[in-house]
Amino acid sequence: MTPTQRTRTYWLEHAWLDTHVEPGVALTVTISGSAAGSDGRITAVRTGVDSPPPGAEILRGLTLPGLANAHSHAFHRALRGTVQVGSGTFWTWREIMYSFADRLTPDTYHALARAVYAEMALAGITAVGEFHYVHHAPGGTPYADPNAMGEALIEAAAEAGIRITLLDTAYLSSGFGQPPDPHQLRFSDGSADAWAERCSLLKERDHARIGAAVHSVRAVPAEQLATVARWAQERGAPLHVHLSEQTAENDACRAAHGCTPTQLLAEHGVLGRRTTGVHSTHLTDEDIALIGRSGTGTCMCPTTERDLADGIGPAVALQQAGSPLSLGSDSHAVIDLLEEARAMELNERLRTRTRGHWTAAALLRAASADGHAALGRDDAGTLETGAVADFTTVALDSVRTAGPLPRLGAETAVFAATAADVRHTVVAGRHVVRDGAHTLVPDVPRALARAVEALRA
Ligand SMILES: [Zn+2]
Repeated sequence: MTPTQRTRTYWLEHAWLDTHVEPGVALTVTISGSAAGSDGRITAVRTGVDSPPPGAEILRGLTLPGLANAHSHAFHRALRGTVQVGSGTFWTWREIMYSFADRLTPDTYHALARAVYAEMALAGITAVGEFHYVHHAPGGTPYADPNAMGEALIEAAAEAGIRITLLDTAYLSSGFGQPPDPHQLRFSDGSADAWAERCSLLKERDHARIGAAVHSVRAVPAEQLATVARWAQERGAPLHVHLSEQTAENDACRAAHGCTPTQLLAEHGVLGRRTTGVHSTHLTDEDIALIGRSGTGTCMCPTTERDLADGIGPAVALQQAGSPLSLGSDSHAVIDLLEEARAMELNERLRTRTRGHWTAAALLRAASADGHAALGRDDAGTLETGAVADFTTVALDSVRTAGPLPRLGAETAVFAATAADVRHTVVAGRHVVRDGAHTLVPDVPRALARAVEALRA
């Protein structure tokens, strides 16, 4: 052990060990580097430890691997409430969303994202996939640092104590053969080559990975899709894409290219094991087979999909075809990965009028290990030696969770708990949330209120 390393012991009253709840588990965590580093790892797991060892941090409740929020647009948090007045569709919602996007600056976005990521930590989320497309100043003029907005998000995640995969998004057109509209000018780099040049300036850090995204087949011309795919391939980076969220996108794609969005992506080399399709709501059987065969992942965002009246995607069929599932809070109508997990199952129950499409264990896997993998991390989402020391503890004695046997803790957490039951969140061995309070952002509700107010002004 070098002088910069130190160890810490966490005693977990109950721990989720991928298949079952284990009572009395001691985790040894080794932290190396600076206090701000994200390099704490689990170096030993001991079971059958009935009482806390001397000096151990005690985590009462059920400790889960840290949750992965695989799809986020941080600024959409500013729309909460505002977009619930009146009626409309996804497309009318989008107009309100653009009015907020128009007002973001690197400073106001940093303040908002810091508060939103702190809200995520309070909900047990230890890593976020930020699908980021507000790159330039309004009108499309680059900032002095062309990545000022992306850097603001990376910094915000560090200050909120969570990991980020910045999915830097290519957004070049408003529709098939259509230039960006005035709102979208600040999203566009002009071409996929210019997008790649800008993204290549972004640097990874302890807490931050850099990935790529194609906003959608509407927003990246077909002949430029391969440029984005190649950039991700060369770096072994995750590649995400909004896929068939709306039937209008499918209709426009068929009119322009004579095929579905999934087929278009397949044709241009976008599908594959590092790729995640987000939503994947309106697919044909052939689309599902293509996605499954290629090992492309699927990120479901059930609370957003129901909020935006998108529809219910074929998650069961996608998984059976070979597509790993992850979960995201996307528009942040709520930020609660436990709710996302149960909503995926409950949507399927409503649709099929049968129960039990996924076990609590399978839903937790989507909310943790498979979500982290979709964000380019294979060393997270499990409480095992060698994994990053990222975990979160859900109270089993709250008004929502008291009663069931502790061995049913996973079922209780997934089907009854909410983000309000998250008691502790540890990232890289460091307590980011302790007893329900954020340790780095002192007053998260106030930080949220101020950041949203600044955008309303
Ligand atoms: Zn999205």
